[in-house]
Amino acid sequence: MDTQARLDQLTTTLKARGYRLTPQRVAVLRVLAESQEHLCVEQIYDQVKAAFPMTSLATIYKTVTLLKEMGEVLELDFGGDSHRYDSRRPRPHPHLICTECKRLVDLDIPSFDRLVQEVLTATGYQVEGYRLDVFGVCLQCRSKS
Ligand SMILES: [Zn+2]
Repeated sequence: MDTQARLDQLTTTLKARGYRLTPQRVAVLRVLAESQEHLCVEQIYDQVKAAFPMTSLATIYKTVTLLKEMGEVLELDFGGDSHRYDSRRPRPHPHLICTECKRLVDLDIPSFDRLVQEVLTATGYQVEGYRLDVFGVCLQCRSKS
């Protein structure tokens, strides 16, 4: 989905639930809709602050938490204090994490969709979520060493 379409979805969802769309809040939504990077709250804050210097970190936290509760962002917790967020694809999906440069990208392998279907078939569980993180060294980091 392109950035504008995702941004429209996010603003429509917030409006429908009666939330006010302040310029700062729209800026947070825009950063989330644009980013392919799985940003943490601090990184979202840095980008929003560039356009709205008066924005507080609390505003970013509140907006991200709200979107998480509404199922519009996927939170990825790695045990540290900075969770990473994916708003382009809020449904669970596998990720690849480079242990050298810490880059976090989506892992698109069709067999994982089949796996979820197989879980249902084998166990009767309607899968609501799962977590799969593959850790390794990315191609760029491997070529450096
Ligand atoms: Zn992702």
